[in-house]
Amino acid sequence: MISKYNAKEISVNGEIFEILIDEETIQKRVAELGEIISKDYEGRIPIFIGVLNGSVIFFADLIRNISINCEVDFLKLSSYGDAKISSGNVKLIKELNADIKNRDIIIVEDIVDTGLSIVYMKGLIQSQNPNSIKIVTLLHKKEATKYDIKLDYIGFQIPNRFVIGYGLDHSQKYRNLRSIYALKNS
Ligand code: 5GP
Repeated sequence: MISKYNAKEISVNGEIFEILIDEETIQKRVAELGEIISKDYEGRIPIFIGVLNGSVIFFADLIRNISINCEVDFLKLSSYGDAKISSGNVKLIKELNADIKNRDIIIVEDIVDTGLSIVYMKGLIQSQNPNSIKIVTLLHKKEATKYDIKLDYIGFQIPNRFVIGYGLDHSQKYRNLRSIYALKNS
């Protein structure tokens, strides 16, 4: 067992992580985002593009709070490797399958840190001539963001700390935690 549901603190390889956003707060905000996006896209059929692997949990919860018709597709990028600090390199590992020409695209991110990944992805999607692109991110580390990007829907602004859980990993593990935890004293 990695931790009790919604434990206040968890130990990961000798480091302590403390709860930053609990499950109930996350679910409430995801439902709100779903409602807002559904209203904004009424009468259209947007394609939600999830960024693997981190956004899968958020993605699954978000689209179940979308009350209009929609489609889904996924992209996979690599930026961090196993490190806790962005390496500044972005590589495309999995391309889109959908034809996105003239479509309304909503990119779904788990977290925007420096902003490099989102800038790269927006450019990639833009080059395939969609009708529109919007970005929804569950978390935004505003202090860490170095690129000038418009984030259309933000779940939570968080401090510049390393976080895990609800899709976010620690060396590929801990994505299955229901709450979001931050490295203590980070
Ligand atoms: P950016 O390109 O904005 O610097 O970084 C975006 C990606 O880095 C996210 O999609 C995520 O995979 C990873 N990342 C950024 N901050 C964190 C963090 O605090 N925890 C974890 N687990 N991943 C992060």
